[in-house]
Amino acid sequence: MPVKTTCPYCGVGCGVVADRDADGKVTVSGDREHPANFGRLCSKGSALAETIGLEGRLLAPLMNGQPATWDDALDHVAGQFARIIREHGPDAVAFYVSGQLLTEDYYVVNKLSKGFVGTANIDTNSRLCMASSVVGHKRAFGSDTVPGCYEDLEQADLLVLVGSNSAWCHPILHQRMLAAKEKNPACRIVVIDPRRTATCEGADLHLPLRAGSDVMLFNGLLAYLAGNNVIDRDFVGNVTSGVADALAQVAGQTVARTAGACGLTEGTLELFFDWFARTERVVTLYSQGVNQSTSGVDKVNAIINCHLLTGRIGRPGMGPFSLTGQPNAMGGREVGGLANQLAAHMDLENAAHRDIVQRFWRAPVMAEKGGLKAVDMFDAIADGRIKAVWIMSTNPVVSLPDADRVRAALDACELVVVSDCMRHTDTTRHAHVLLPALAWGEKDGTVTNSERRISRQRPFLPPPGEARADWRIVCDVARRMGYAGFDYAAAAEVFREHAELSGFENGGRRDFDISALATCDDQAYEALEPVQWPVTRDAPSGTARMFETPHFFTPDHKARFVAVKPRAARNATSRDYPLVLNTGRVRDQWHTMTRTGKTARLLSHIFEPYAEFHPEDARMAGVKHDGLARLTSPWGKMIARVVVTSEQRRGCVFVPMHWNEEFAGAGRVNALVNPAVDPLSGQPESKHTPVKADPFRPK
Ligand code: SF4
Repeated sequence: MPVKTTCPYCGVGCGVVADRDADGKVTVSGDREHPANFGRLCSKGSALAETIGLEGRLLAPLMNGQPATWDDALDHVAGQFARIIREHGPDAVAFYVSGQLLTEDYYVVNKLSKGFVGTANIDTNSRLCMASSVVGHKRAFGSDTVPGCYEDLEQADLLVLVGSNSAWCHPILHQRMLAAKEKNPACRIVVIDPRRTATCEGADLHLPLRAGSDVMLFNGLLAYLAGNNVIDRDFVGNVTSGVADALAQVAGQTVARTAGACGLTEGTLELFFDWFARTERVVTLYSQGVNQSTSGVDKVNAIINCHLLTGRIGRPGMGPFSLTGQPNAMGGREVGGLANQLAAHMDLENAAHRDIVQRFWRAPVMAEKGGLKAVDMFDAIADGRIKAVWIMSTNPVVSLPDADRVRAALDACELVVVSDCMRHTDTTRHAHVLLPALAWGEKDGTVTNSERRISRQRPFLPPPGEARADWRIVCDVARRMGYAGFDYAAAAEVFREHAELSGFENGGRRDFDISALATCDDQAYEALEPVQWPVTRDAPSGTARMFETPHFFTPDHKARFVAVKPRAARNATSRDYPLVLNTGRVRDQWHTMTRTGKTARLLSHIFEPYAEFHPEDARMAGVKHDGLARLTSPWGKMIARVVVTSEQRRGCVFVPMHWNEEFAGAGRVNALVNPAVDPLSGQPESKHTPVKADPFRPK
């Protein structure tokens, strides 16, 4: 029987139909009825069947590398967590989780951490993906709300892609944009990115701005719009606040000054400003080039300011649009899976919200302040403040910045528990206890994509070996620690509890509300169709677009302009480190390659780590196309194949983030990446590390 499920890779959240024949052979195809992809799949999605073999899987618990029974492993984890909490307090333990987890997994581990252990030291690799957008949304709208939907991209006359190589990183959405442009000759696409990426191929204009100058550019646009009277005065006057401060911040910022600061020609910049000013239906999409910055939150608000000034939000074909990187980055936000959030979009630092959640969970304690965000969490592990960490479905030894320090931190940690579906990753190597988790195709639950659409991940394979669902492993440990409230029989029960909590009144801030799903029985959960939240009694089929009635979630229900001041990246280039390292993804690999690295088809696209140099930078560094270069930053080093291309902006080097230590000892690019973070979001600056390059000749 074909099973409808959801792709486990990017935040587009495409529907997949998986079919398993009598011999157990699985084929996958795009789900024609899924509103994210209407049957299409990209290269990664269409290769899913090649990644589900059991080679490399973790199939039974291990303790110190030796096979163990589930009972022994769980008793050990629960006993050691309880002892460390008793001796050192709840903040001596931490959970580092993942946007790969299903919402049900995320909900349960967040409940255990904040409501029962009593620590907010739970953070997620989604911190690396969209934390800046969360804070930007909350500053502007009073809630973490993505206003629009994918259909808006097809209704727009101008699509502005900022810091987003959507052709490679959100391929199906990119194909939808190109198809819409094909149908609508008036539609233009503008790409704002220091690199000339594959996304530029279908674009009308590429602005190769100076790395990190996005705030300057959107402040310049705000000044241009105001100067040319492109202002929706009713909207600004009636439903926003703070416009005077925002405009005062950009007063006198001319096109010439903006172009100079952004390293662009005046004519090109003015063309973009003019298109933006003249086009009513504009969607501005942004991704990691905006978020992964020490000014990430300000960049988000600089973009949103331009949409507020023109009133272009909450209507078809317009609005700011944050593209999430991971399949369930959005679901993690719903359940409060970040160190500074509570469940159901409630605030950890709001006593009334804490009270609601604590009563609902019948929790003995409740964390009262934000916990340590990802980078700070691993610093606290390194210096011994955190003595036990449980890492779920993620590989921080490859993916976090200053990755050698992360590795050293795990080496020094008293107890490292890793639950994962893979036996050998750079992170599992450091685990004292390894707990086998289910993988895609075996898991049962929900994920939420970039347009707030909740979709089911359904199992079509039997659980292999002794692997268990992540939510069940968490419950097994929680019960052994003596906590009540972790007796769920199935993922559907977790989902109903999560949905019920979302319906509680939280001071007029019911942006995330799926309470209409709280009464779904097991059959209805099984059959749940993709649906966009909020899903309420008034909107039982979900909500495509937010703020159609411009009623925001701030106390006065007005959207906020935020006056943002351009700031330089935290670590500047120097004579010793003259190049800016920018990291990102390639088309056919996902994260640290634990799944996509299994298929020859996907590896044939790009099979080794490479560094893209501008020809002049390559000449200065003495590195040659197809040769090898050693890249060094103050934090670490690696070896990469040299690609010399004029598509790279002068002064910048691009290196993909996927490859791990095992690849010919080349090293991980995140070992070089500086651990500087945005002061508000804690999101690392993965796009701006000063590095140097020199030729490398193997001995
Ligand atoms: Fe999967 Fe993203 Fe490709 Fe869709 S676009 S098939 S969600 S990787």
